[in-house]
Amino acid sequence: MADPPSAPAPGPTLAAKLAELDSELEQLNPPRTEQRAPVQYGKRAGDHIAESTDRLTRERTAAELRRVREQVVAALERLQGGGYGRCEICGRAIPEARLEALPWAIRCVDCAAGGPRRG
Ligand SMILES: [Zn+2]
Repeated sequence: MADPPSAPAPGPTLAAKLAELDSELEQLNPPRTEQRAPVQYGKRAGDHIAESTDRLTRERTAAELRRVREQVVAALERLQGGGYGRCEICGRAIPEARLEALPWAIRCVDCAAGGPRRG
């Protein structure tokens, strides 16, 4: 029972990624949001637009981070409970190259792109 020589250990990578995502989410969503100064209308229109755009961008970024975080958590669960490296949709093995590039991938390329195509 020799260890496979080239297989990367995804555990530490996933744990580090999870910590990274958590700290990024914390920065995007500071706990004291209600203390924000109210937006002042009628001052300069550009200021208000800039702030809305900034908030929208941060919400989108936070949503994307949460999406990746879910995948990292799912991958960690699979790593502990079994099934890591297998597609959650079709059950086929996820190619090693994909896992190397994306250690928290829980779907193969086909399924990640929207499900297996027929024909
Ligand atoms: Zn698949």
